[in-house]
Amino acid sequence: MKTSNYLIIGSGVAGLSLAIKLSEKFPDRNITLVTKSNEEESNTKYAQGGIAVVTNFFKDSFEKHIEDTLICGGGLCDKEVVDMVVKNAPERLNELIQWGAAFDRNTQGNLHLGKEGGHSAHRIVHHKDQTGKEIEQAILAQAKRKENICVLEYHFALDLIVRNNRCYGAYVLNEKTEDIQPFVSDFTILATGGIGQVYGHTTNPPVATGDGIAMGSRAGAFIRDMEFIQFHPTTLYENGITAAFLISEAVRGFGACLQTKSGERFMLKYDARGDLAPRDIVSQSIDMELKKSGEPCVFMDCTHLDIKTFKHHFPMIYERCKSVGIDAAKDKIPVVPAQHYVCGGISVNINGETSVKHLFACGECSRTGLHGANRLASNSLLEALVYSHRIYNYLAAARSHQTKFPKNLSAYKINTQHISSDFILKQKKELQALMLRYAGIVRNDDELHHAKKNVVRLQKELEHIAQTHNITKEFFELKNMTETARLIIEHSLQRKNSAGTFVKQACLIQ
Ligand SMILES: Cc1cc2nc3c(=O)[nH]c(=O)nc-3n(C[C@H](O)[C@H](O)[C@H](O)COP(=O)(O)OP(=O)(O)OC[C@H]3O[C@@H](n4cnc5c(N)ncnc54)[C@H](O)[C@@H]3O)c2cc1C
Repeated sequence: MKTSNYLIIGSGVAGLSLAIKLSEKFPDRNITLVTKSNEEESNTKYAQGGIAVVTNFFKDSFEKHIEDTLICGGGLCDKEVVDMVVKNAPERLNELIQWGAAFDRNTQGNLHLGKEGGHSAHRIVHHKDQTGKEIEQAILAQAKRKENICVLEYHFALDLIVRNNRCYGAYVLNEKTEDIQPFVSDFTILATGGIGQVYGHTTNPPVATGDGIAMGSRAGAFIRDMEFIQFHPTTLYENGITAAFLISEAVRGFGACLQTKSGERFMLKYDARGDLAPRDIVSQSIDMELKKSGEPCVFMDCTHLDIKTFKHHFPMIYERCKSVGIDAAKDKIPVVPAQHYVCGGISVNINGETSVKHLFACGECSRTGLHGANRLASNSLLEALVYSHRIYNYLAAARSHQTKFPKNLSAYKINTQHISSDFILKQKKELQALMLRYAGIVRNDDELHHAKKNVVRLQKELEHIAQTHNITKEFFELKNMTETARLIIEHSLQRKNSAGTFVKQACLIQ
């Protein structure tokens, strides 16, 4: 058994920023941070566009950022939360800068501000098109300097330890030794990120399997808004490739436009904001165009742009396209929508507390009320930073707990029978295909019921297997993806208006 004052699960921006703050405030307390892959791997690392922060008060205002967030959320945001997050943003940005993250500046030394879909002003603070990598590296370096933070890579949290609705930590699998141990803590924080692998075709890396949301759900935590899955409208279309490379919204902010194969600009047919309409609208519009034409992708045209400046702002995007034979200066970039972000998750209050005592959730796995039905671009790194600060403030004021640890913690029976990895891969691919086809951008009642039947069948099969077989990370990821899929389907089915038809929101439902 390993004990610590704080157990943080996940090494993205949410988990690391909280760990740094707790460590500085309480040098005599210990913080264990477990993460299932290498310490850098996370959605955070891949964030391109940047962080939405009002910094130019001549041309922008908190009110405008609040308004943009509320409009994008389709009337389902929590206004108090939006207000709090937007007004906290400048302080959190300064903290990042103090921790060593560098952001692009203009020749006068002011922050260079990008613009993305749904934003009424230039307010996206960024580091070229690799903002997440810059942040992840800066905060990881900070965390590693702290003596009272123990970062354990390749440690996979399996399940939370909960007795009488109070969390005492988590069971953790050491991926290298295959040893499972209870990690007991006074406070546990889920910072496990996204769910993209549930759909397979996603911008998220392989670690995004919805583990935290599934663990929270099994522990009885209240989960909300899982129907609001954001599909990024523009990922590079590459035949046969499932891991989608993102062509940031900032590229459209820079002047690129969407076209059909025949060169028709179509976005103005769907929304007056055209190519800079919010993501849900652009994804749905592309989906409709593709269904109409039967083509596999639409195109992003950058050929009219100043390519020298383009390359300066988007070096990674330019090079990635080039690597597959597309020169953005001359060729149109083929793009399709892919799963990108989950707006819902483990429901938390304004202090990041879940409905389970001593359990907190932060970042993409949480549902704070900021995003409503659809996240405004570049509001998620911000949400993670603001809520890790809220949790820190709450824990800094909380009484120190002399936790009495529960007895009989060896809940995991060790079996000897091995689960075939071919079986797991096959089931995973079937689940992904099912979710993409029946619970994707456009959903309807019949298809959701079909998906639910299959997901529940798979869940039963996995439960049966778990009785007799050895626990592996891959098995648990599949189990967590299946639970996440069930939540998405059930919440989609529940989201009906009083007339019995689905509310037309981010998950456009027929
Ligand atoms: C391609 C891409 C571009 C994006 N661009 C932007 C952008 O420009 N602006 C913006 O605001 N947002 C952007 N986002 C979204 C944003 O990056 C994420 O929402 C945010 O980084 C989430 O941070 P997090 O700390 O909550 O989770 P993550 O950064 O995903 O970290 C989760 C961590 O938890 C670990 N973990 C998961 N399960 C377990 C487990 N069972 N046991 C142990 N560890 C576990 C993971 O390994 C990982 O370390 C983008 C996302 C992607 C994928």
